[in-house]
Amino acid sequence: MDYTKKLLEVRDLHKAYSKEGVPTKALNGITFDVLSGEYLGIMGASGSGKTTLLNCIATVIKPTSGQILLSGANISAFDGAKLAEYRGNRIGYLFQDFALLDNLTGRENILLPLSIHNSSIAEKHLNDIAGFLGITDVLSKFPAQMSGGQKQRVAAARSLISDPDIILADEPTGALDTKAARLLMEKLREVNQSQERTILMVTHDPNAASFCSRILFIQDGVIFH
Ligand code: ADP
Ligand code: MG
Repeated sequence: MDYTKKLLEVRDLHKAYSKEGVPTKALNGITFDVLSGEYLGIMGASGSGKTTLLNCIATVIKPTSGQILLSGANISAFDGAKLAEYRGNRIGYLFQDFALLDNLTGRENILLPLSIHNSSIAEKHLNDIAGFLGITDVLSKFPAQMSGGQKQRVAAARSLISDPDIILADEPTGALDTKAARLLMEKLREVNQSQERTILMVTHDPNAASFCSRILFIQDGVIFH
């Protein structure tokens, strides 16, 4: 594994929101790299800017200033097909609240990114991922029929299905009980170690962060070491 390669570069990132006319500075000059193949954790208290940071990287929101580079390419310059390719194939996003669609089965939820971005899917790929994550028996169930842990592992399968360059995870254990959280963290560590997939996880949970290969700390929108 080439740990020296910078996969993601975040440079002097600022984000200010305007809340009822009052500006809130959520990010105040964030700079860090995610190296290819690593499992980087960013720890910080509630309100420190973690979700804002991931949303900027995922192009859900636009930073006020600063740069984000993936493999050297400035993602703010992406538009049209390139932006769709970035969102659909280069990143996988895992949310605290699963963000599954209630009226779709586990299988349909997992295939969702592909039905939009890349319709030719090997069924084997889905079955391999489901087997690895231990969710084969819930593939034909709806989210309401799944436990929290199963829902989050279905969401994890969805984030993996397009073979993204990097998984972005926002407090993925936040809604899980201790046992389900531990199982998910063990699976994500395996995704990183055996499948050599790069992961960036933000969390306020020291237990979850202990699974990472490197940890940075964020406070008031700044990284400190
Ligand atoms: P974390 O994920 O670490 O809890 P957030 O990134 O959600 O932190 O929030 C960082 C700061 O930005 C907080 O002060 C929060 O209130 C503010 N904030 C987040 N989203 C918005 C928004 N859409 N509008 C205004 N302020 C926001
Ligand atoms: Mg958050």
